[in-house]
This record gives sequence, C-alpha cells and structure tokens, in this order.
Amino acid sequence: MVDPRRIVIVGTGLAGASAAGALREQGYDGDLLLVGEQRHRPYELPALSKGILLGDTDDPDWVHEESFYAEKNIDLRLGTRVSGVSIGDHTVDVDGKRESWDRLVLATGSTPRRLRLPGHDLDNVLRLRRLDEARALRRELTEGRDVVIIGAGWIGCEVAAAARKHGANVTVVDVLPQPLHRVVGDTVAGVFRSMHEDQGVTFRLDTGIAEYVGENGRATGVRLEDDSVLPADLVLVAVGAYPRTELAQEAGLALSDDGGVQVDATLATSAPDVFAIGDIAAHAHPRFGRRIRVEHWANAKDQGAHVAQNLLGASEPFTASPYFFSDQYDLGMEFRGLTDPFSDELVVRGDLGTREFIAFWVRDGALQAAMNVNMWDDGDTLGALVDKQARVEPAKLVDADLASLMG
Ligand SMILES: Cc1cc2nc3c(=O)[nH]c(=O)nc-3n(C[C@H](O)[C@H](O)[C@H](O)COP(=O)(O)OP(=O)(O)OC[C@H]3O[C@@H](n4cnc5c(N)ncnc54)[C@H](O)[C@@H]3O)c2cc1C
Repeated sequence: MVDPRRIVIVGTGLAGASAAGALREQGYDGDLLLVGEQRHRPYELPALSKGILLGDTDDPDWVHEESFYAEKNIDLRLGTRVSGVSIGDHTVDVDGKRESWDRLVLATGSTPRRLRLPGHDLDNVLRLRRLDEARALRRELTEGRDVVIIGAGWIGCEVAAAARKHGANVTVVDVLPQPLHRVVGDTVAGVFRSMHEDQGVTFRLDTGIAEYVGENGRATGVRLEDDSVLPADLVLVAVGAYPRTELAQEAGLALSDDGGVQVDATLATSAPDVFAIGDIAAHAHPRFGRRIRVEHWANAKDQGAHVAQNLLGASEPFTASPYFFSDQYDLGMEFRGLTDPFSDELVVRGDLGTREFIAFWVRDGALQAAMNVNMWDDGDTLGALVDKQARVEPAKLVDADLASLMG
C-alpha cells in the first residue's frame, strides 16, 4: 500500500464528489482538495432535465449534505477553475497558486456541443448542463410558447416531455430518422416516437438545420436544410456533449480516439499517480476487451467510489456494465449493457404497444444489453444476465422466468 498525503480532485461533479466521499470512507485521512468551477456544491445532473423542468423541485439531488465536506475535512473550493496541471512537478494551478499533490484525479466531465451555425449565439438559443441553466429553462417553458429542440437524444426527449407538461408547442428536429435511433435502433425508437407524438410533440426528422433566425439578439425561428422555418420563442440545442480534456491534453496525458482520457482497467491514466473518472474516462474495460467511454450517472458515481481504493495503492479493475435510466411522461426505463442495435438481434418480452416491455439485444447467442420499460421486477436479474453475457435462446427471453436463465 502507498500512503499519499495529499490528493487533489479536479471537478466537483458526481464523479469527483463521489471519489472524495469514498476516500474518507476508506479511511484516508490526508489532505483532500476538491476543486471545481461551479458555484453550487456537487450535485447530480438527472433532475436538470426531469424534476426541475417539470416543476416538481427547484433543487437537484445533492451528492452530499452541505455539512459533509467540513465534517469530513474535505477542502471544497467552489467557483474555482484549475488552469493547468504539471505532471512532472505534481502540481495544479488554482487561482494563480500552485497546489501540490501526491495523487491527482481528473473528473472534469463534459460540455454540451454547439452547432456553430449563423445565430448560434442568440440569447434564447440554450444548452442544458448546469443547475442555473435548468432553472432558467424551466422559467421559459410556458403555455403556448414555441419551443424547438435540436437533437432527439435522451436530453432532447426529456426536455420535450417537460415542455409539453407546461403546454408549450414542441418541435424536435434531428438528422436521424427516429428519436434515440443510435442507442436503441428503429423498432424501439418507434415506441418513443409514437409516445411523444401522442403527447403532441412534432418531429422533423432526417433533416439538419441551416441557421437560427433572429432579430434584436433573440432567435425567432430555426431554418431547416429544406429552407422551411420553424417559429421559435426558445431553442434548446441538445446534440450531445464532448469530454473536457483540455487539462489532460495540455499535461500530455494520452487521449483516446473519441477524445476521452485513456485510462487502464484500474482508471489510471498514462501518467503515474494520475487517474481519470466519469464522463472523460476512456476506460479499457476488462470484460468488453476494448476502451469505452460512458456518459451516464451510474458510471460517474461508481467510478468515483471505485477509484478511491486505487488511489490508496490497490489495483482493482473497474468492471461494471454501463447502466442508465430515463423518465419521459409516464414511461420509465433502465438500460444495461452495450449494444449495436443495428447488428445485434432484438428480442422483445412484453408489449411494445402498451409500453411495458423488456428489449434484449443478443449477439451470436450471447446477451449484450437489456432495457426494461415500465417493468421493474427483474432489474437485478437483468444486470446479472448482462454482466455475464448470458448465452440464452431468444425464445426463453420472451417468456421464461428470467432468474432461471442465470444457469
Ligand atoms: C441534463 C442532464 C441529464 C442527465 N440525465 C441522466 C439520466 O437520467 N441518467 C443517466 O444515467 N445519466 C444522465 N446524465 C448524464 C450524467 O449525469 C453524467 O454522465 C454525469 O453526471 C457525469 O459526471 P462527471 O462528474 O463525470 O461530470 P460533470 O457532472 O460534468 O462534472 C464535471 C465538473 O468538472 C468541472 N470542471 C471541468 N473543468 C474544470 C476545470 N478546469 N477546473 C475546475 N472545474 C472544472 C465542471 O464545471 C463540472 O462541474 C444527464 C446529463 C445531463 C447534462
């Protein structure tokens, strides 16, 4: 075991704050600096596109109670940007001051993509990643307003659901033929599409946008590639995010092809004593035999908890399967595993029409991923089956007792 006396964590999102908590839980009693540029204490993001937009709550789930950081002797520095990392000196630049570390954790997360088209900087062309942005967006979602959402991914779909609840007129635009197309493929995406259409959402699919149209600094519409213009009181751009690897890159850490920071199975980067977790980590996953980068809540939380032991000298691989969840209207779902929905075989248990089903994706007889929609009894079993890439006959996935498939 090693005995670091000073650990610095950059990024006060879910990954960074979870790592700080886990270090104290595991008995680390040295200096612990948790530094991030946001002014709010660490919070989780899912409520930003759900509960807060729906008006159910004004607050996100905080990662820890306010008093936690002082009680655990964690030096939490909010509203503070880290502007550089020196691997050789074992320092980071914080507010013009050099802070030393024995171990460093980068947990700098992602930032939403922009579409740099004419008008992209108009006042009411918004993105959603931060608490203040969610609260501001909530105030804009009102009866009768024209809301155009660019991007029919998870965040776009969740915002569409919230906007409809408040009576806004919602149009969702995407270059792909279905919402959520890349993640779940045609058939399952059709379920989401018809649900949103039943709720009054209009889709403009298979089309890109040409420009944001505006006057007096505000967008009044969105011009599509076919030259039609959608009227807009508000535009939300939800076209994915890219990992914030500036610090890692400047420090000379190895990056992966998808832009994340390369980490090995234990979450260690290419530099000794430096780890990366959460959205930025391009992780050499021992079970998948390749690098994956997962932009989901559970990954941030679990890698944060996991890295603590490795910071303290262990070399434990991180092996969890990707997991995420979403809520839209009265549909709740969980997704476990990794699939290519365009080449894996889709097997459906339950009824797509009533939106109560489990979708399985199978490759060469082995289960790759499972998504339960409005069915909650088998979550743990699904997780175990996906983790072991269970070899199952498709017919059994449709109607056998799932626990019996564990073998
Ligand atoms: C609106 C929204 C809804 C979501 N809903 C779901 C969901 O329902 N289910 C699900 O599974 N996942 C969801 N996700 C994804 C999930 O929340 C993220 O994958 C996860 O929170 C990532 O955590 P992180 O700590 O890696 O990154 P972040 O939460 O992005 O935290 C990184 C932090 O680092 C800070 N930082 C970056 N650079 C610096 C620097 N140089 N100096 C100081 N600080 C810096 C950033 O300001 C940020 O606070 C959602 C994401 C969003 C945006």
